[in-house]
Amino acid sequence: MCPDVSLPAADPTASIVRVVLDVPLDRWFDYVNPGLPVREGNRVVVPFAGRQLVGIVMALATESDVPEHKLKAVLQVFDDVPFDTATLKLLRFCADYYHYPFGQTVLASLPLRLRQIKPAVSRKMWVYQLAQPIPVDFVGKRQQVLSRLIALLQQHGECNEAMLAKTSASWRKAMQGLLDGGYVSRREVIATRPSMPASDLAPTLNDEQAHAVNAILDNLHGFQPWLLFGVTGSGKTEVYIRLLEKVLTEPQAQALIMVPEINLTPQLESRFRSRLSQFALVTLHSHLSESERLQNWQAAQSGTARIVIGTRLSIFTPMPHLKLMILDEEHDTSYKQQDGMRYHARDVALVRAKQANIPVVLGSATPSLESWYNAIGDRGQSGRAARKPSYRLLTLSRRAAAQAQLPRIFCIDTTHSPPEAGLTPQLKHAIELRLQRGEQSLLFINRRGYAPVLHCSACQWLADCRRCSAKAVLHLRQRVLRCHHCGDEQPIPVQCPSCGNPDLRPVGQATQRIEETLQQLFPQARVARVDRDTIQAKDALTELLSAVHAGKVDILIGTQMLAKGHDFANLTLVGVLDTDSALYSPDYRASERLFAQLMQVAGRAGRGDKPGEVLIQTAFPQHALFAALREQNYAAFADDLLQERIAMQFPPATYIAVMKAEATDYSLVERFLTDFSQAARQYVTEHAVTLVDQPLIYDPVRPGIARLNRMERGYVMLQSAHRGALQQLLQVAVEWSNAHPLQAKIRWIIDVDALEY
Ligand code: ADP
Ligand code: ZN
Ligand code: ZN
Repeated sequence: MCPDVSLPAADPTASIVRVVLDVPLDRWFDYVNPGLPVREGNRVVVPFAGRQLVGIVMALATESDVPEHKLKAVLQVFDDVPFDTATLKLLRFCADYYHYPFGQTVLASLPLRLRQIKPAVSRKMWVYQLAQPIPVDFVGKRQQVLSRLIALLQQHGECNEAMLAKTSASWRKAMQGLLDGGYVSRREVIATRPSMPASDLAPTLNDEQAHAVNAILDNLHGFQPWLLFGVTGSGKTEVYIRLLEKVLTEPQAQALIMVPEINLTPQLESRFRSRLSQFALVTLHSHLSESERLQNWQAAQSGTARIVIGTRLSIFTPMPHLKLMILDEEHDTSYKQQDGMRYHARDVALVRAKQANIPVVLGSATPSLESWYNAIGDRGQSGRAARKPSYRLLTLSRRAAAQAQLPRIFCIDTTHSPPEAGLTPQLKHAIELRLQRGEQSLLFINRRGYAPVLHCSACQWLADCRRCSAKAVLHLRQRVLRCHHCGDEQPIPVQCPSCGNPDLRPVGQATQRIEETLQQLFPQARVARVDRDTIQAKDALTELLSAVHAGKVDILIGTQMLAKGHDFANLTLVGVLDTDSALYSPDYRASERLFAQLMQVAGRAGRGDKPGEVLIQTAFPQHALFAALREQNYAAFADDLLQERIAMQFPPATYIAVMKAEATDYSLVERFLTDFSQAARQYVTEHAVTLVDQPLIYDPVRPGIARLNRMERGYVMLQSAHRGALQQLLQVAVEWSNAHPLQAKIRWIIDVDALEY
């Protein structure tokens, strides 16, 4: 079913068409073919429960288990084959592994236009050029459009549609005459955004980079995961570019580059575009229009696009000649899908690379503990079975650019120097110094809005979200209390709803309030704020970043949106305002995430020739996390964390899956989950012999946000040292849950390898 392989001609005896549909039932549906030219892989329209649905043809058959008079007929066939066998195999694996209906898995992976009931024609874009001299008598006296077109083509050689369209709205008709006469030829272009000028010419690789590139290039023909562990600014992107240059010299070869959030890193995209401009490159992410998305997807599927840069969902893009996959910032949790099928793009990438028998490169300055475990293995201390590393580790230990050094990191003890309006005297002084020297500062606070809570000092009332068990965040500029979990907004009360006290006070710090404080402290400074509230428009971040590069901003305040991949040469100070709550969080992953975040944000300082300084305000300067951070020794920190996880039998030492359930009434959720955990335990006891490991089943508990959007939530965690045992249990768990009497009253989902509960 590869798009470049001709499919078998329609078999006239195969009158049954078996399709998958976007419905929550994990099976194929049979229809009769009324004589339409149907092939495997086609998109078809079929009747289903009184509606019309788009389906994908999985097989053609001569008979069906459904009695003939009950079979309905296929209504329409579209002449496109969206999938190849390799992609379907990957989707099948994911549907099984994540216990999600196959039809929904398949259809959700397609661009919207391919899920709609109409032929998906992406309008192709062309460039035109003269193919042979045009006879003088070809252009009549009054054919002004035609003569202007010819003039343009003569003048420019190649012309794109935008240039030609300036001649007249009816230019296409005139052009058709030229094409028909053979005077003009055209070739298809795929939608590419203009690339920035190649400011960044290929540097000579340092030893570590050269070693990494050579090691991977020596092992191109076969499955191999690589962990490229390189400090911020160590030249990982440069390594990717060299790999692509080489791999893509093979005719037709394609490469897939995954990034966490493409719109946060416009620099990365433009670097690829300018350095690899000889290869057609498309992007796939949620900021594209539906027609761009379709066009780019089709370019990948047809093999026209040689490089695809995309976010999470692009892991399912069919690429018939895929030879290399790269996952940048592999630790980033946005690779995990949090609704629908809860897949993790990194894990899917590993499976895809294995199925395609190609290398996959995972890059990070702070690898996930999962990848770290796979790269260093487990020597089997304390009597456990040793586990050999399955990834190969490549290390870039220093910054690549000649003058750039890693920043120096200090903690400011807030128990000795209490912050005033969020800022300690030391941090204020450091900002002032930067202003005097004409350098830039970045203040990191991972909370947007004005203040995290609105408080009544008379009765201790706190503003809550009306729909969630969470605090409503004060957004002063928009004059609302907004919930960051469900988005609900309510007016700011003029007095305490509980005791009538009119003196309600904002408590704590968030981006807007810090911005206000800075404007008061440093009225001459140009302050810019970057968070989800300011960066909503598509190009807002790009504009802001160019303002920073142009030296039009003195102080940047931002959330983790700012932490990723930006390169500011004149930025020499990073201040970290308030992260202590993550130090002692009940979530065992919180410290891993905090370390990664701080390392990333610290990595923004001192990228140019001026040394950078990072000041962290904390009440716990002695904490082991800060000690490791000051030494910028992620490896030591990760080793310690990993030993801890192994000792406590948490992932990645074990595998988990979480049964999540919700309903408007918690007693229903509790009943369902209690039944569920009992049934699961019973299964484990009864099948003790056939299970490689006996999964642990915990009691139902409520998550941190117990009520979300008026739904009461609960979950049951399942844990095992063996993936296989857990999968076997999940298989029956799904069947059992589907048959439970409460099934219609609650919503449930199984989250395999859950990151959040
Ligand atoms: P990372 O992806 O690890 O953050 P980059 O590839 O963005 O690192 O490199 C950081 C900076 O160092 C960039 O400005 C890049 O052009 C530069 N750089 C990368 N490799 C080299 C090298 N071998 N020599 C000099 N400069 C380099
Ligand atoms: Zn009150
Ligand atoms: Zn809410």
